[in-house]
Amino acid sequence: MTPIKPDTLKEIVRRIIRTRPDEIGCETCFDSLDRFVDMELEGKDAAQAMPLVKRHLEICGGCSDEYHALLTALEDFKDSASPA
Ligand SMILES: [Zn+2]
Repeated sequence: MTPIKPDTLKEIVRRIIRTRPDEIGCETCFDSLDRFVDMELEGKDAAQAMPLVKRHLEICGGCSDEYHALLTALEDFKDSASPA
């Protein structure tokens, strides 16, 4: 019996993660992030419209950081763009 190499195991896990239909990857999340943030700033229910993005943000620290940075930046931009 051949022992499973760590690399093989990683590949298997990666494949399982990739094929889960109810989850998206960082790339897809990132592609949708600006629209997601736009909707939030417009007061729309972004989580309802893009539940997969919302879910990814809950489980992925990197994308969550990106989301908060984008949200903060756009809020600042809006504040400075709107007439006082
Ligand atoms: Zn991510």
